Amino acid sequence: MGDRSALRLVVLDRDGILNENRDDYVKSADEWVPIPGALEAVAKLHQAGWHVVVATNQSGLGRGLFDMYTLNEMHLKMNALLAPLGGKVDAVFFCPHAPEDNCRCRKPLPGLFEDIRVRFGLDDMAAVPAVGNTLRDLQAATAVGCAPHLVRTGKAATLDDMGVQALRDQMPGLVVHASLTAFADALLGAERKKHRATRAEGKRLASGGAPAATSTPTST
Ligand SMILES: [Zn+2]
Repeated sequence: MGDRSALRLVVLDRDGILNENRDDYVKSADEWVPIPGALEAVAKLHQAGWHVVVATNQSGLGRGLFDMYTLNEMHLKMNALLAPLGGKVDAVFFCPHAPEDNCRCRKPLPGLFEDIRVRFGLDDMAAVPAVGNTLRDLQAATAVGCAPHLVRTGKAATLDDMGVQALRDQMPGLVVHASLTAFADALLGAERKKHRATRAEGKRLASGGAPAATSTPTST
């Protein structure tokens, strides 16, 4: 089954991260409108070898505002727009319930993230960044140990600095990004830096340990 620790997986919220939020719910494929740059960011992650999955509350299903056929149409549109960019969302995990259903998958509860963990066979989610635009996205993510990332689009676009600070206070380790592009660049940049450090360490060990040990004293 390969090396699980090598699996690179990122979990994104949908509305407000990939597509524009609507106060009256995104109810059709036509209303699924990508946030500028977001799909390009997904493509960048996908091409770098990351699995991109979505975890989203879709209570519009439970409220009868749209049906499963329509939800599938939205996600077909999403992947159809991603394909020419060289991007892909591997899977969409969604909660179809209304709040009064008292399910275990509606964020901030961690059911969707637990499903993702099981699906990908991960023992631990510490290496899995999760991106959201609301506190409840981040609460669901950190409940299973994911690293929380706030992107300031969607509902987080209107947060002022005090609002962001309030989130930081509630969410230790929170990383804040201006856009999904900024998130992707930060993630891939950190990965490149780690690889460079690993290669440098490999060279150092191959050359016989610490540089000081490679030169023999000339005086006796
Ligand atoms: Zn649910």
